[in-house]
Amino acid sequence: MTAVLTAQHLTKNFPVRGRFALRRSTVHAVQDVTIGLSAGKVTAVVGESGSGKSTLARMLARLISPTSGEVLLNGDPVPRGAANRAYRREVQLVLQDPFSSLNPIHSIRYHLSRPLRIHGFAADTDAISELLHRVALTPAERFIDKFPHELSGGQRQRVAIARALAVRPEVLIADEPVSMLDVSIRLGILNVLADLRDNEDLAILYVTHDIASARYLADAIVVMYAGQIVEAGPARQVTDAPAHPYTQLLLRAAPDPDRTEPVTDLAGRGAPPSLIRPPSGCRFHPRCPHAMDICRTKAPQPLPINADHTASCWLYQEKHHPTE
Ligand code: SF4
Repeated sequence: MTAVLTAQHLTKNFPVRGRFALRRSTVHAVQDVTIGLSAGKVTAVVGESGSGKSTLARMLARLISPTSGEVLLNGDPVPRGAANRAYRREVQLVLQDPFSSLNPIHSIRYHLSRPLRIHGFAADTDAISELLHRVALTPAERFIDKFPHELSGGQRQRVAIARALAVRPEVLIADEPVSMLDVSIRLGILNVLADLRDNEDLAILYVTHDIASARYLADAIVVMYAGQIVEAGPARQVTDAPAHPYTQLLLRAAPDPDRTEPVTDLAGRGAPPSLIRPPSGCRFHPRCPHAMDICRTKAPQPLPINADHTASCWLYQEKHHPTE
């Protein structure tokens, strides 16, 4: 299946100054990431804070430009620099915070009619009601003339998704869309995203630190650590048979009512590394329970585990190509 949106070898470095502005450093936020988003599929990017997942989402939304690498929309390269209106129409971003993403002085009618008008679509009550219906805010007349402060966090996030849908995008990038919501209403938002995938054939990138929600929603999972992809594959395979030690730890740290052993505390294995001076070799080696000598000096490349399932780990290099 051809990807609607493809990132090829994306790298993003941020220059930073030291405390006295004397020394310049570089934050290596994302390194050499390749990923494809297909119509009718949810791809989850999973990782802790500082893994580079939100920077990747912002590069794909063209809010920031990559340092190197390329973004392709339906196979055509997207020029560097600010995205044009046509790109924004095809690729929409939903942010984490539904409390600040809607302007409190404007009604829901205003928030939804504005993108419709800007992109030349009918912006009447019927069009707005249809958008509200697609995100299960029904009956629409109960919500259409309300202001953001009159809605719950979950309802605001549904409005933010409806606003993204107004321009009829092919790709929806949802950056931690449920992390600021009560646990009790997260499932409703995930189900809205699942319906959009199933009924409207949207290609969805779901960015999250919560691998359990990725397992629930996603068709494919990409695990990022310290700016790099460490494992990628079909969601079931990655979560039922995780290959990379970091993915295994993430899953052991996630709540699971069926598990009998205690939840692993990821912080107990140390903090994620500095991205100014990332660890040599495998970036996970300071926290990895299986680290070997080679892990400290040489970076592993992605290796096949199964069809469409890869992991970057020397454990599999040893298995596939015993030490020469
Ligand atoms: Fe652990 Fe080594 Fe695999 Fe990295 S390459 S995850 S340090 S075993």
